[in-house]
Amino acid sequence: MDLGHVPANHRTSPVRPGSGASARAGSAQHPPRVTSGPTLLIGLAKCGIAGCGCGMTIRTGKGGRYRYYTCNARTNRGATSCRCPSVRAEQLDELVMTELADRLFAEHELVPLLQQVLDTSSEARLRKQQEVEQCEERLATARSRLANLHDAIENGTVSSRDPDIAGRIKQRRTEIDALNTMARTLRQQIDVGPTRITPAAVARFGTIVRKRLLHGDGPTRQNIARAFIRTVTVGPNITITGDPQSLAHGAAAVARSKGVVPSFDREWCPIDHKDGHSNHWVIWAPLSK
Ligand SMILES: [Zn+2]
Repeated sequence: MDLGHVPANHRTSPVRPGSGASARAGSAQHPPRVTSGPTLLIGLAKCGIAGCGCGMTIRTGKGGRYRYYTCNARTNRGATSCRCPSVRAEQLDELVMTELADRLFAEHELVPLLQQVLDTSSEARLRKQQEVEQCEERLATARSRLANLHDAIENGTVSSRDPDIAGRIKQRRTEIDALNTMARTLRQQIDVGPTRITPAAVARFGTIVRKRLLHGDGPTRQNIARAFIRTVTVGPNITITGDPQSLAHGAAAVARSKGVVPSFDREWCPIDHKDGHSNHWVIWAPLSK
């Protein structure tokens, strides 16, 4: 085995963008445990050796007792084709789960990371609020013009049979209907939009996900990994990346759930993660024994 090129104390940067330095040695608090569930990172793990970048598959070793993530190039073209280390599946799974729990979903990491989303949301909310107010002003104007037309008919100043007057009444009514619809839509957007991701909801979201990462069964942890991780790059160091937008969707799901614990899977995130989002979070961790 070819593990541990990097001293265990050589922990590199914390989550970015984030709250600043975090010197905690995250995984030390959670000793590895043996699991026999699904391999959590298939489809996410890829080789980190320059010029390779292949996906990783599972191979068994030691008479089938151990499972390893191995670079596809090594599997298909032999061990000399890439110097990417094979990694015990339990070791990598555990490392990634504890790094996520400690360095991404901990409240002091998650809240600043989502701050950008929260700020944007409150701006968007404010803009929609202003649009609702403008809508209501226009509604008031349209209603008073319609009332004036009706007054004029009542006073006998104009005739309701006048095609011009009938046309103007019809126009005002159409305008009022459209403005009512617009105001209703805007109010719905303000009510159900991601604008309700409060810091408290973010904290609750972090607690739920941490619990599942550290204590969930195999399928539960696999769901979390697939919902929030974009790539796990394996070399002498492990690099985990993901999209803050998927975190924002998760926090929004918790904010909306009102006590019911939501499940997280990729389906509720409509964003195509394969598109290069320049803005993503990154965790680096040394691959050590
Ligand atoms: Zn490789």
